[in-house]
Amino acid sequence: VKRPDSSSKARRTRTYAAPRGTLDILPEDEPYWRFVQAAAEETCRLFGYRRMETPMFEDVGLFSRTVGEATDIVEKEMYVFSDRGGQELALRPEWTANICRAYLQHGMHNRPQPVRVWYWGPTFRYQRPQAGRYRQFTQFGCEAIGEGDPSIDAECVEMAWDFYGRLGLRDLRIELSSIGDPTCRPAYQEALRSYYADKLDRLCADCQRRYDTNIMRLLDCKTDMDGPVTSRAPSILDHLCADCRDHFDALRSYLDEMGIPYTLNPRLARGLDYYTRTVFEITPPGEGSQSSLCGGGRYDGLIELLGSRPTPAIGFAAGLERTIATLRKQSTPVPPFPEPTAYVACQSSAAAAAALRLTSDLRKKGVSALAGVGGRSLKAQMRHANALGIRRVLILGEDELAKGTVTVRDMTTGEQKTVPRSKVAPLLTHRRP
Ligand code: AMP
Repeated sequence: VKRPDSSSKARRTRTYAAPRGTLDILPEDEPYWRFVQAAAEETCRLFGYRRMETPMFEDVGLFSRTVGEATDIVEKEMYVFSDRGGQELALRPEWTANICRAYLQHGMHNRPQPVRVWYWGPTFRYQRPQAGRYRQFTQFGCEAIGEGDPSIDAECVEMAWDFYGRLGLRDLRIELSSIGDPTCRPAYQEALRSYYADKLDRLCADCQRRYDTNIMRLLDCKTDMDGPVTSRAPSILDHLCADCRDHFDALRSYLDEMGIPYTLNPRLARGLDYYTRTVFEITPPGEGSQSSLCGGGRYDGLIELLGSRPTPAIGFAAGLERTIATLRKQSTPVPPFPEPTAYVACQSSAAAAAALRLTSDLRKKGVSALAGVGGRSLKAQMRHANALGIRRVLILGEDELAKGTVTVRDMTTGEQKTVPRSKVAPLLTHRRP
């Protein structure tokens, strides 16, 4: 570990950058974020989901118990710290466990079931940063807790699909599978174990270790991603028990009925322990599941792991940095941030107070406006307005001050007219945009 240089010169000259694996969202990125959030809100409104938020950190045990000791998240990706009171906490590495914790804590099982909620916010995983993989990233997700019927699974997949459709992304794929339940999964895991027993040398070191702890993860071994070992592995879909098979068939028939396209991918293992039955991912064109935009599934065993009675539930989480990267890649148009309507310029410092007053009056009337500041020449103020993309410059000169008028200049046409100050706001609000 390199120690930071603590000499006073080094301290004075040191520059800072955002921590590795994190992103700054700049003003020019903001239209994408607004667009994506508006789409998420509209999807949730249409499906009757209500927003929920939970703290950014929780008791570390909440995640190790539910996500699973043998998962990447718990083994090596959590940001864990002790607070001053000695409590061991973790920045949330995902949201489902927190939402279920809150569901129980607030007695939400007494509300009409399923409880349908959505969330949006930062999520933290200490992973090796690479394209589309960050240490702080934003997730939007939905959870329906308290109902096991496959129609809710169909609703969940439909909802994720609706969200991506609303964004206008093209050529996305839904990959779908079932990973069974505690009745049928153990036999499948045994079948996998005997299949892989003499092939471990062809997998990565992580997978060799997971052979004992988390055998299903071998299905997404990065070394053998599209290799012969994984592609010939037994399929979970041939090992489902009758109940899981019926559930999966019903889900598929509902999706078919709604015209939602999907591809079966029995290798979808999902990283977390708590999934049961339905699992799905949405992937962008031409890329594997390593770059999924969104992942979801049923987690009927999770609430029981938190010490309550078994409660079926399903949800999905979408990664928004990857979603926005795909919007950019596909050159999807997003509504630009509206620039202020007017720039109030003054010809002399004598007009500065009047300019501020006019700017303030405009804002009170709902017209967005900026005032030219700092004693720049009128020409410099026009250039400034132009550079900011503001179309109307309101000029206050000696003449205007004396007569209580304003000269309104349209920067695109060069047209100018002088009007009484009281007429400026109506003029700006009634003009074509
Ligand atoms: P998961 O909770 O692992 O199922 O992930 C759900 C979604 O969150 C993924 O499909 C990604 O879009 C996103 N995601 C997960 N991990 C990261 C990460 N480290 N950086 C950026 N996005 C991520």
